[in-house]
Amino acid sequence: LPALATCTHQLSGYIPRRFHFAPGRGKRLALSHMFQPQNLREDQVLSLEGRSGDLTCKSHRLMLQVGLIHPASSGCYHLLPYTVRAMEKLVRVIDQEMQAIGGQKVNMPSLSPAELWRATNRWDLMGKELLRLRDRHGKEYCLGPTHEEAITALVASHKTLSYKQLPILLYQLTRKFRDEPRPRFGLLRGREFYMKDMYTFDASPEAAQRTYSLVCDAYSSLFDRLGLQCVKVQADVGSIGGTMSHEFQLPVDIGEDRFVVCPRCSFSANMETLDSSQTNCPACQGPLTDTKGIEVGHTFYLGTKYSSIFNAQFINVHGKPALAEMGCYGLGVTRILAAAIEVLSTEDCVRWPGLLAPYQVCLLPPKKGSKEEAATELMEQLYDYITEVVPQLRGEVLLDDRTHLTIGNRLKDANKFGYPFVIIAGKRALEDPAHFEVWCQNTSEVVFLTKEAVVALL
Ligand code: ATP
Ligand code: MG
Ligand code: MG
Ligand code: MG
Repeated sequence: LPALATCTHQLSGYIPRRFHFAPGRGKRLALSHMFQPQNLREDQVLSLEGRSGDLTCKSHRLMLQVGLIHPASSGCYHLLPYTVRAMEKLVRVIDQEMQAIGGQKVNMPSLSPAELWRATNRWDLMGKELLRLRDRHGKEYCLGPTHEEAITALVASHKTLSYKQLPILLYQLTRKFRDEPRPRFGLLRGREFYMKDMYTFDASPEAAQRTYSLVCDAYSSLFDRLGLQCVKVQADVGSIGGTMSHEFQLPVDIGEDRFVVCPRCSFSANMETLDSSQTNCPACQGPLTDTKGIEVGHTFYLGTKYSSIFNAQFINVHGKPALAEMGCYGLGVTRILAAAIEVLSTEDCVRWPGLLAPYQVCLLPPKKGSKEEAATELMEQLYDYITEVVPQLRGEVLLDDRTHLTIGNRLKDANKFGYPFVIIAGKRALEDPAHFEVWCQNTSEVVFLTKEAVVALL
């Protein structure tokens, strides 16, 4: 059943409805059946990480404490079930944004042959960050840290591309590998992480600029939908190259980047591009303010830097071959999850962007043997009612059936995990009609509602 449940979203047409809720007790998702480490103490978390000092990064500490991630080796983490659920939701939102601007999803191998990287000289330029290996025949490879070479070679192999087919926007969402000198802060800087990388091919510099703006707007829309207030800043092109570049920075003190913004005009730039002694805005001369941030996205206008090397051409309006104008666009998928937790959470409790919370609703039936025990059945009925009446919430409602614990203890856990809605069957559940206590975590409100009103609220 668990194996079936993981693929229900692809196969829902073929699987009898009763399988939708596995795993769990009966057809309800029950917390006691989950692989979910709970409430690790700070010293336990430190020993998991093999550290003696403090974990200075809040999201890193919280994600370990509530069992969202588990260290595998330096800079590599197991993503546990709650995180995978949140990431799948993030992937869906990213897919929507990328496909709304014409993005087509591909999936390229992580194993990338050295000759591609030698062609652009990045086999040497990338230095120790590139994770290199040889196969049994002695052939050299790296584990892809990014895919400009691979995608350009792929598009170059398509010899009949016409200007009428452009722009082409190809993207993927895959693991990336970088031997970071200082992997740290959990998912914020890993050696193996998920990135969404898009590559665009246009017929002219003007068309490529339009595509560039389109992708930047899609990124802004994504961050708006997630409720993350990112700043788009001018950025350095680094080893990827090109002529224009922007980063999407999430302002927060733990961030490893520094950028300046001009409160008077819209100018903003990463300090890497600026004369750091400059205190006035180059655009309007107003005083600049300087902020730390986490780089969650990065866009590059590449021109023909890669298409000229791999001969990625299309047939232009005159029937002649011409080089494609390219752009590339990265989003740190696992980094966004951790960065969102970093900015939204309190010191002790995880908070998620509403769209990404692993489960939307957590139901707390009464403690076994308590005065309210009779309300247990009402809670189960509420579970069935919600999932029947609100189809979008199927698979989103969790029953915290650890009824040997008090409601208070389970409520504390639920608060820590950050379910947007927590519903308790207390004394008033035994009234006629039953009233359930609903904790709205994101607004810190508590209301007493009948089951019909609960559904209306959700
Ligand atoms: P940084 O400056 O933080 O090292 P970068 O500039 O090297 O990042 P890019 O090459 O621009 O990264 O990659 C695109 C996106 O991938 C970044 O904007 C970031 O969100 C994400 N990313 C990069 N490196 C990591 C990492 N080590 N762990 C998690 N996410 C990363
Ligand atoms: Mg880097
Ligand atoms: Mg950077
Ligand atoms: Mg970058």
